[in-house]
Amino acid sequence: MTLLFCSTTDRSDRWLSELDARLPGLEVRVWPEMGDPADIEMALVWKPPHGLLATLPNLKLIVSLGAGVESLLLDPTLPEVPLVRMVSEGLTVDMAGYVALQVLRWHRLLDEYKALQQAGRWEPLDPCPASEVKVGILGMGELGMASAKTLLSMDYRVLGWSRTPKTLPGVESFSGPDGLAAMLGQCNMLVCLLPLTAETRGLLNRKLFAALPKGAVVVNAARGGHLVEEDLLEALESGHIAGASLDVFAEEPLPAGHPFWTHPKVHVTPHVAAVTHPSRSAAVVAEAITAFREGRPLPNLVDRSQGY
Ligand code: NDP
Repeated sequence: MTLLFCSTTDRSDRWLSELDARLPGLEVRVWPEMGDPADIEMALVWKPPHGLLATLPNLKLIVSLGAGVESLLLDPTLPEVPLVRMVSEGLTVDMAGYVALQVLRWHRLLDEYKALQQAGRWEPLDPCPASEVKVGILGMGELGMASAKTLLSMDYRVLGWSRTPKTLPGVESFSGPDGLAAMLGQCNMLVCLLPLTAETRGLLNRKLFAALPKGAVVVNAARGGHLVEEDLLEALESGHIAGASLDVFAEEPLPAGHPFWTHPKVHVTPHVAAVTHPSRSAAVVAEAITAFREGRPLPNLVDRSQGY
């Protein structure tokens, strides 16, 4: 079986050596050097050009190098073959760490202390205890659950919203549109870890911000398409939202001159909250390929009808 590797951001040389160590003998071709498209039965991809996968007549499996698959599903020619997404311990640990970092940054007043440092002032501030800070997580899947557990271990109060109700000790679970409305009014911080689907696109908008308590902080580590950027700027301007940590943007790289670059209440990172490293994630890809070859159930299969 031949695998096509297609990504303009992931290092093909590293992936090839990691896969070779786990699946010796697997033939891998690196796009755009495809050879005969009819040879290719599996594809390992991140944002392949729309239409590319439809040119592979014998394609039987697509494995996404990313956890989010919205860019693949937006390709109207995407072949109707099983689509497996990235779920790896490394990615999960990284995201939980990013969420903890942002929650701590805002709660423990790091920006204020930096300003005090620059003014040469020794001035202890008085943030409330973590047990009085309510963090709402939108999306209680692989990444949301892990982030919730990390926050709980630091004594934060955690609320979680998902499509279907969840049971996680210590987490107040909400689901569906009514659940969202009930949760938002309580959240001092709101973390978005949703997949980008027709239902979740634009969810972080003026109406949602208005439903949060005054002074809430917003963290978006999911996709830029979740956020209506001008609505956030307006909510920051009015002071209703106290700050935002943003890792993902409508347009990436974030364009020069975008207001987020210089906004004093916005922290920008360049889509690095959780990154798929070949050394940490090749085992997951190898397992998907092996399961496929052996006819076993595929792990982390995308439900195309739900869009994630
Ligand atoms: P999962 O599929 O494991 O979890 C998705 C969660 O969102 C589930 O709890 C699901 O509910 C919930 N959900 C989906 N649709 C809705 C809806 N309409 N209403 C309420 N809840 C909904 O995804 P992951 O946790 O693995 O990843 C989440 C996203 O994080 C990815 O799609 C990707 O976009 C982003 N990401 C960002 C990275 C970065 O570096 N910034 C890195 C990796 C991922 P239910 O449990 O009921 O199905």
